[in-house]
Amino acid sequence: MKEILQIGEKILKEKALEVKDILSPAIQKVISDMKKSLAKEGDGVAIAAPQIGHPYRIFVISDRVFDEKEANEERVYINPKIIKTSKRKEMMEEGCLSVRWKYGKVERAEKVTVEAYNEKGEKFLRGGSGLLAQIFQHEIDHLDGILFVEKAKDLTEYEPDEE
Ligand code: ZN
Repeated sequence: MKEILQIGEKILKEKALEVKDILSPAIQKVISDMKKSLAKEGDGVAIAAPQIGHPYRIFVISDRVFDEKEANEERVYINPKIIKTSKRKEMMEEGCLSVRWKYGKVERAEKVTVEAYNEKGEKFLRGGSGLLAQIFQHEIDHLDGILFVEKAKDLTEYEPDEE
C-alpha cells in the first residue's frame, strides 16, 4: 500500500507531467494504487497522483462523493483542464490528505467545467458545482504543485481523535 505523502515532500511542490500513454501498464498501475490509497482514508474525497509519489496529471474521486444514481460518473480524471469557471466564488471549508490535520477556508469558484480523459483514454467533459467544483480545483492545484494551505484563511488544526 502506498503511503500518502505529507507536506514538505518535494514532489508535492512540483508541476506534474501530462500522461502520454494512458493505457500503458505503468499508468494503469498508478491509477489502481491511487484508488487503493484513497479507499483506505475514511475521510478522503479525492487524491492526486503526486500524493502517492507519481508526477503525473491524474486525480481520482472517491465513490463517497456520488450517490447511487451517479454510479456511472467518471472517477478518474487524466490530464484534466478547467475550461470554464463561474464568476461567483465562495469560501469553502477544506482539508487535505497531505496536510494532516489542518483545515481552513479557501475561496473557490462555485462552478467549474473540466475536460479530461478517463482510464480507457476516452475524452469527457464534466461540469460540477459545490463539493465537486471544490474537488476539481483542489486536485488540479495539486497537479500544479499547490497545496490548499497556501491559499487558506483561518487555518486550524485538529487532533485525529477529534474527527
Ligand atoms: Zn489535497
